[in-house]
Amino acid sequence: MAEIIKDKILIVDDEPQVRELLTLNFRDEYLVSTAATVKEASAKIQNEKFSLVITDMNMAGEKGRDVIHLVKTVSPETIVLAITGYGSVEDAVNAVKLGAEEYFLKPLDLERFNLTVKSHMEKFHLNRQLNKNSRLLELEKASRAVLEAEIIEVSLPDILKMILGMFKADSGSVMLFDKNSEQLVVSASEGLSNLAQESLRVSDGAKISGWAAKHNRPLLLGPDPEKSKKILGDFEPRNEINSSLVVPLAIRGKPLGVLNLNMLSDSKRFNEEDMDIVTIFSMSFALSIENARVKRELIENNERLKEMDKLKTDLISNVSHELRTPLTAMKGSLDLLLLQKLIASEDSAKLLGIMKNNLNRQIHLVTDLLEYSRIEGNRMNIEKVESDAVGIVKEAVDEMGILFGGSKLSIKQSIPSKPLVFKFDPGRIKQVLLNLLSNSMKYTQRGGIEVIIEDKTDSVIFSVKDTGCGIPSDQRPNIFTRFFRVDNEITRNTQGLGLGLSIAKGIIESHGGKIWFESPEKGTIFSFLLYK
Ligand code: ADP
Repeated sequence: MAEIIKDKILIVDDEPQVRELLTLNFRDEYLVSTAATVKEASAKIQNEKFSLVITDMNMAGEKGRDVIHLVKTVSPETIVLAITGYGSVEDAVNAVKLGAEEYFLKPLDLERFNLTVKSHMEKFHLNRQLNKNSRLLELEKASRAVLEAEIIEVSLPDILKMILGMFKADSGSVMLFDKNSEQLVVSASEGLSNLAQESLRVSDGAKISGWAAKHNRPLLLGPDPEKSKKILGDFEPRNEINSSLVVPLAIRGKPLGVLNLNMLSDSKRFNEEDMDIVTIFSMSFALSIENARVKRELIENNERLKEMDKLKTDLISNVSHELRTPLTAMKGSLDLLLLQKLIASEDSAKLLGIMKNNLNRQIHLVTDLLEYSRIEGNRMNIEKVESDAVGIVKEAVDEMGILFGGSKLSIKQSIPSKPLVFKFDPGRIKQVLLNLLSNSMKYTQRGGIEVIIEDKTDSVIFSVKDTGCGIPSDQRPNIFTRFFRVDNEITRNTQGLGLGLSIAKGIIESHGGKIWFESPEKGTIFSFLLYK
């Protein structure tokens, strides 16, 4: 069962009988403290949080109004009831002006007095809860602001200001652990001199902040250094600070930093409730800080990856460019040798033929790399001109027929009988068709290939259908990914870099079109759509 925390009441009166009577009257329900002088009362009010203070207005040589003033300065929400033996209108007006809730005459009508105390206590608790909720709500907003922040260091000062404002605190800081030095470093501060915040680096466990972080325990430090010393050992009190709250920021017990809030003036101080509220807030605050950090790390890593990716694309582009020039020169010389029959023997001609085939293959691979780097670097040039889709398909099929002259596969063309003219880049679209046709030939052992053109209202769909090995379902999501090749026997025995389809996708998307494939029971159908 939850422990019931009794409210604290302070009775200030110089008459011992009144103190005794009221103590007896209240002690069952409340924790009662008494003070015979204003001085004694002041010390208690400064060190403890009372729900209710009952004060006599005219004590020997002293004034109850000083008590009311102090209570309302230190803890405005505390209820004050004034009593006096010399009932005067002036006293009553003064007491209420200073903030006392009500005024009673001696001798007290205890029944009425008790009823009044009860109803004020209820009001006090209600107000306190309301106040607590609205403060938590405000702090929640601060927490959300951290969560939404792009660069946490930039928004932390504003958030700290907001928190200080809520508690009417004078100075404060957010200290976070520096990953490299593992020291607490000021990330945001308010009211601290520049020098103080630059030199503030605290090792784990050292000083008050380090202690709070290490022990993951919030601290409420008051003007009584002896009390603090009991917790902190050789704690050095800072004279200018009258009261401070030091709350660790941690996630699942892992220390992240510390939130420090200070009050400098004598009349203000933090209380247990403030500590509770800041401690509740510190959990979401810590989470928000961590989230913001992770987010920033992700953004930074992403930038780094993008940079590396660009470097890689540039490298591929430069290397393939450099490789292609000598390869094309070699091919030119070979072509000339073969064409002009400058070869002495038939055997050398055969060997040169093999060289030419291999050279062609290499030029093809290097060209693919170059094309790929163009797409990656957004340097693919598409020049749309009025062109005939039917003519382009025929050209591609013819070229394919020459290349795969020895193939036993049948090629069927299901295309319109008349030209189908609209704007596209004929060279690039032929390149895509050649790639799809050569894939179908590479991955089909028997059966045939069919090229289809479907003329739709505002688009044209091109398809290349084969009766080949098909694409296993688990590999389908990666088919258009660069350098991806299906891992099977047929692919292992065919040449390729796994770039053809990603280049085709780049070309079609640069046209504003779409490319996709279906792999039914047997074979594969690759299709792409171009808008007219
Ligand atoms: P490459 O053919 O150079 O390996 P592609 O990007 O053109 O690269 O194709 C990627 C992979 O997709 C190929 O390695 C192959 O495994 C698979 N593939 C492409 N077209 C077909 C097809 N028509 N039938 C079966 N598999 C195919």
